[in-house]
Amino acid sequence: MKRRDFLRSGVAAVAATAAITGLGVEAAEQGQSQGQAQGQSVIKRYNKIGKTDLKMSDISFGTGSLPSASMVLRAVDRGINYFDTAPDYGHAEEHIGEAMKNLRRDKVIIASKFCNPLAYPAHLPAGSTKEQYVKAVEDSLKRLKTDYLDICFVHAMGEMSKELDMEKKRLLDDNMLSAFDSLKKAGKVRYLAASSHGPTNMEDLLMAAVVSGKFDLIMPSFNFLKFPKLPDIIKEAKGKGVGVVAMKTLAGAKEMNLDFKTADFAQSAFKWVLKHPEVNGLVVTMKNLSDLDNYIPASGGDFTARDQKVLDAYARAYGHSYCRTGCGQCEDACARGVEIANTLRYQMYFKDYGMEKRAILSYSALSAKADACLTCAAPTCTGACPYGLPVAQMLQAAHQSLTLYA
Ligand code: SF4
Ligand code: SF4
Repeated sequence: MKRRDFLRSGVAAVAATAAITGLGVEAAEQGQSQGQAQGQSVIKRYNKIGKTDLKMSDISFGTGSLPSASMVLRAVDRGINYFDTAPDYGHAEEHIGEAMKNLRRDKVIIASKFCNPLAYPAHLPAGSTKEQYVKAVEDSLKRLKTDYLDICFVHAMGEMSKELDMEKKRLLDDNMLSAFDSLKKAGKVRYLAASSHGPTNMEDLLMAAVVSGKFDLIMPSFNFLKFPKLPDIIKEAKGKGVGVVAMKTLAGAKEMNLDFKTADFAQSAFKWVLKHPEVNGLVVTMKNLSDLDNYIPASGGDFTARDQKVLDAYARAYGHSYCRTGCGQCEDACARGVEIANTLRYQMYFKDYGMEKRAILSYSALSAKADACLTCAAPTCTGACPYGLPVAQMLQAAHQSLTLYA
């Protein structure tokens, strides 16, 4: 966005800018933000991330669908100080860069990824040169209009290969580690992190990241429809001073037709995640101002019996149609090698997250799509899902949604 267009984007954005300059975490903690002055909900809790010197808002901003710079300013004005972005999240880095012209750098935490600015997923593969890793970060810094990242992720472990060893090579790539050391010495990146939403080996890869001693924080998919080994991993992380930032906390974010509002469900789901002492905060994709209104009231809140009832009702209604992000247990059941979990995750982006363009582009890059499912006479995948999902049927629907000329 050009400066002129940015300024045209509204009086409120200008007001937000005025409020932000000089507004730090400390001020927000004391409830002195512009948002609170306007009677809006604001962030109430900030947590230290592992052994780092960073303190993040418990409800934080995922920029996978970031619409504008002014949205960043509005979020900061409500007390959000942590922004999770990536080169392959559309124009998110550029939007943050535009907002940075009006923000004090030391008052926001910017986390980006070792990725290229292409259609998602564009993670740098294992074996990339040190120069390629360094360049990825330097290009991000240019788009973000800043001279350092607080955090850089090796992103989406388990997404580039189903082979555990292959992804471990990406996780602990010597060139990546050497690039990080150089970038850190140059003051261009402060902390190293690893994330995973599967589809394969999420738990094993994140445990490998924790025990390696190389990473300052991890970011798993984590929600109340949970994974058996994840509690052990986040405990191990806490023991080693590795921070934990959760993502995919809404268990599919289904459009609901239940007795409570979508916002109530989101807040209950967030409070469930944040009640774990090992979790420092969560990031959730925010697309519009309603998301700020719906999500921020969960900040600092206690998880109650009512929250549990809400989550139980959601699980009853959607537990048999939500493909657990990061799971991948049915992948080997398909003799034709269909990328089941990736397909169903992209369908979630399309149907539930409103990220249609990214979903279609990402699906088009899969090597084994679900067109095979349209004529499959023996859908062995369905019986392989321990959660009873009608996998073949869901894949057929996903292929129809994600293919322009299906
Ligand atoms: S369909 Fe079932 S088994 Fe397959 S990835 Fe999703 S939740 Fe896991
Ligand atoms: S429906 Fe058939 S082709 Fe499709 S994933 Fe299941 S087993 Fe594979």
